[in-house]
Amino acid sequence: MANAVANKHIEKIRSLSVAKRCYLWLLDRGYIRRDVANSISEDNDVALMAFIKKFLEKIHKDPDEFRMNHEDIRILEFIYDGEIWIEDVENVIGVNPESLSLFTRDFCKTRKIACLSFSPEESVIAVAEPWNYALKDEITRRVNSKTHTFIGTPRKTIENILQHHWIRGAEDAEGREFIKVSEMGSISSSRSSEDSSHILVDQIIQRGISENASDIHIEPLRESGGYSVKMRVDGRLYPFPELGSPSDPIEPIVARVKILGKMRVQEVRVPQDGGFPRGSGHHAIDCRVASLPSVLGQGKEKVVMRLLRPTMEESLRTLGFEEDELDYFKDVFSCPNGIILVTGPTGSGKSTTLHCVLQEFVAKKEFSIYTVEDPVEYRLPGAHQVQVLRGVVEFPHAFRAFLRADPDIIMVGEMRDAETVHVALQAAITGHLVFSTLHTNDAPSVVPRLLAMGDANFVVEPYLIASALRGAVAQRLLETLCPHCKLERLLLPEECKVLGIPPGSKKIFDINPSGCSECRHRGVVGRTAIFEMVNFQRVPNWDSVVNENVSHEAIRKACLEGGMKTLFDSARRKLLGGTVSSRSFYNTFGMMTIRSKVEKTAGSL
Ligand SMILES: [Zn+2]
Repeated sequence: MANAVANKHIEKIRSLSVAKRCYLWLLDRGYIRRDVANSISEDNDVALMAFIKKFLEKIHKDPDEFRMNHEDIRILEFIYDGEIWIEDVENVIGVNPESLSLFTRDFCKTRKIACLSFSPEESVIAVAEPWNYALKDEITRRVNSKTHTFIGTPRKTIENILQHHWIRGAEDAEGREFIKVSEMGSISSSRSSEDSSHILVDQIIQRGISENASDIHIEPLRESGGYSVKMRVDGRLYPFPELGSPSDPIEPIVARVKILGKMRVQEVRVPQDGGFPRGSGHHAIDCRVASLPSVLGQGKEKVVMRLLRPTMEESLRTLGFEEDELDYFKDVFSCPNGIILVTGPTGSGKSTTLHCVLQEFVAKKEFSIYTVEDPVEYRLPGAHQVQVLRGVVEFPHAFRAFLRADPDIIMVGEMRDAETVHVALQAAITGHLVFSTLHTNDAPSVVPRLLAMGDANFVVEPYLIASALRGAVAQRLLETLCPHCKLERLLLPEECKVLGIPPGSKKIFDINPSGCSECRHRGVVGRTAIFEMVNFQRVPNWDSVVNENVSHEAIRKACLEGGMKTLFDSARRKLLGGTVSSRSFYNTFGMMTIRSKVEKTAGSL
């Protein structure tokens, strides 16, 4: 059987190190001189690898040094990526003429391929351009074996095979590229049948939408193929094994996502990004795609799709405010002019909060509102929104343009450079209201951060900050306990100490590790925000606090005297009130020792 012979040889090649495979090929093709070869120990993989790496480096710097043509460089890279290349595949592996006629001669000739052996278990296909993943996908779709092994071989070898092994009578019927071989049964014969990668990618995205996922990860599992699908739901990454496949190739899936994202499919060595819209009207989402190459081999890329839902479903009421917190929040945002900043790490819901605020202003219909964002996460009818275009429309450009267009309120996605801060300060002191976000851990830190952002061209003066900065809101998202299955438990003495309550019989609700069907056995559903808020205008001696450039602790102390509401208090309330999990509480404040103690205690119960 050709299959058995093929398998033996393929196994043998796979058992060799990549370095050795490259080395043998270079030797075979005469790229390494005999005397050089003699000085290398063939069995020392480390030395061989170093040699191959150096060789590749030299080639990339100057291909002429070894008189290597482009095709051969590609072959070497291909072998280096762990793929199989056999120069004389015709004699080494052998050809099963029946398998050969699985495709029409014309198809084989134009694509430069030859099916060497075939069974429902495994097929072995020789290809002259093994880096052509689109072609390999096409073959995989048509040849319905469990595994497909592609072996790279020179074009000349393919031509020889087609010439010498083609069976008479198996010539092409006109207009058909693929011959049905009924006894092989398992071959997919329909060209018009829907592309399976289309269907699979569709299913994955649909599932992401129905799970309300923020991100979908499709990642390669190993060199030989296979991929897994994970989704971020309510801030946590969950595996979706039913959507992945441990054996099917990832390449067609990635290719499909890249086509949708208007990215270059053939480019598999560098990261790319793209995007596409999906659905329309109220259910419309924007899908932003990022692709990343991996060490697993050429074409084994990971793709991540971020699902942006441009229609706001939240309002200030649903964000997670307690009644008095909402009053304070509205007080901060009711200033007629100045800068108000929302801070927190990426994914803490900053832009959702700002959009909820803007929605309220839009509803009043008496303001001209502009936003510049990167990306525009939500559509806001009634406001004029501009998307950042790197190198064309940056934050400061758009901001200056807004100032010429009679604005009342301007929202800038992020304060990330001196110029934006500078323009924002100017806008604020000339009577406009400016909203933006900043990456800081807490609300008082916005002052030293803004001061530190100034540079020689755009100086950030403390007195400007003192008069322009109105308020800051720091926020985080905590996971909400499933109301159907949450469990009551006693607080540990350590927890009582941290939470500032007397040790004793205080109980809280926490995650039920086995969950219930309502929460898909996760124990948590959705997230809720906690807030730290300060209205700087209420801080005593605010001007001198900023002008004297005091320490972070001193600013924080002054803010607390001015009535700042802290993140910790906000979270503590929600923990004791039974709405959030203790693990997300301790994670947020970096209290890992207590978290693991709680988990150990829960485990021993
Ligand atoms: Zn539940």
